[in-house]
Amino acid sequence: MSADEKTIAIVGAGQAGGWAAQTLRSEGFGGRIVLIGDEAHRPYERPPLSKSVLAGEALPEMTRLQKPEAFDALELDWRPLASATRIDRAAKQLHLANGDVVGYDKLILCTGGRARRLGIPGAELPGVFTLRNLDDAAALGAALVPGRRLLIVGGGWIGLEVAATARRKGLDVTVVEAMQRLCERTVPPEISAYLLRLHASNGVLVELGMGIERLAQTQGGAGLIATLVDGRTLACDAVLAGIGLVPNDELAREAGLQCEGGVMVDSQCLTSDPDILAAGDVAVWHCERAGRRMRLESWQNAQEQGIAAARSALGIAVNHQPLPWFWSDQYGINLQIFGMPAPEHLAVVRGDMQGDSFVVFFLDAGKVVAALGPNAARDLRFARRLIERGTTVDAGQLADLQVPLSKI
Ligand code: FAD
Ligand code: NAP
Repeated sequence: MSADEKTIAIVGAGQAGGWAAQTLRSEGFGGRIVLIGDEAHRPYERPPLSKSVLAGEALPEMTRLQKPEAFDALELDWRPLASATRIDRAAKQLHLANGDVVGYDKLILCTGGRARRLGIPGAELPGVFTLRNLDDAAALGAALVPGRRLLIVGGGWIGLEVAATARRKGLDVTVVEAMQRLCERTVPPEISAYLLRLHASNGVLVELGMGIERLAQTQGGAGLIATLVDGRTLACDAVLAGIGLVPNDELAREAGLQCEGGVMVDSQCLTSDPDILAAGDVAVWHCERAGRRMRLESWQNAQEQGIAAARSALGIAVNHQPLPWFWSDQYGINLQIFGMPAPEHLAVVRGDMQGDSFVVFFLDAGKVVAALGPNAARDLRFARRLIERGTTVDAGQLADLQVPLSKI
């Protein structure tokens, strides 16, 4: 069979799926590409959903991965509002909830994840939101009315970005975080402390080491009453649960693919079935820089792994090992993170951590392995080069503002 007669199916028309489809064409694949997505929308990017789109400053269309003409030019067999429910690996067929059956030569799973729900009484009440897709952003955005009180459960990225957007829109905001510091799983203590100061100075009340036990409607039903684990009650108008992501790996698990908190892939994006690949938030792989298996829940990884999976499906050699990069925008501050800081690394601060621009470098045996900080894009560009080159550095020089990073 010639390549032009082959079918590559992609499940999940999100960021990784959209990039995979585009890459198949840009690499010259002339066969059939079936793009199956359970949302109504064409592939789009999620970062603006907690920022400009939620604030009402950008239109949902602005999040699209491809302009409509560019998307049409890909000549995909695009199946919106279609959910893949079963993979028949022996027959190499994909079953959809609408009864359709799609045969494939290669299958790329880009099913991402869904927002974890609060497992407490009252979690399903009106006024309780999660944020993962455009429809969620529209629903939550409508509830962000100036003067109202928003309770956010979870002091991770969703929680903090929505807190910043809601404050800008004039709401009273309380954040309840179960851990002892903000974004504990993704940033070191120096940055958690900075984020706490940033939010406190913008009028957000942050409760650390705190959970929520139940939610109930107020008498009359216009508002909500949250009972915290220490017994206190808090009245609010809306609740957002930003308590993490659950990988959409059921399709793969039920098909007998190796899964462990997501679909296991190697650095060629191959699952335990050589005709099935996976990419993006749903994929678990061995990140050499972190020295462990993980899912990398980020915009950069969704794009780069989506591209890598498409290339790999076409038989092109790939080795997906990106230098992890995240960013977050809150109150006009741009925070960026390169690499994977770990507690055993030596932290070196450049600049004033009480200010709004500084960098924290992380050194392993004298080499910079990670760097992060607010409003420091230029320094972080140099830091990125130091990480990529594996340069051995002098910690004193890194911390000395008189020594330009370009000279190190
Ligand atoms: P997704 O984008 O989630 O796409 C998966 C798609 O598959 C979804 O449309 C889903 O509905 C669909 N699907 C699932 N199962 C099926 C099925 N069985 N059949 C058909 N379709 C299915 N990252 C950053 O680095 N910086 C940021 O500032 C940032 N901001 C973010 C803000 C928000 C509000 C959110 C939610 C995420 C943010 N991220 C950010 C993370 C980033 O957007 C994700 O890592 C990225 O979207 C992952 O892409 P993906 O394609 O793997 O998954
Ligand atoms: P997250 O970053 O994992 O943060 C969730 C936080 O909520 C964690 O600190 C978690 O603690 C805490 N938590 C969990 N259960 C709780 C409870 N019952 N009560 C109080 N706190 C609780 O996840 P997220 O913020 O929900 O984001 C979801 C996804 O969107 C992630 O993939 C994230 O990367 C992505 N996103 C990224 C960005 C960005 O990169 N700028 C922005 C928005 C969203 P534990 O660690 O103990 O579970």
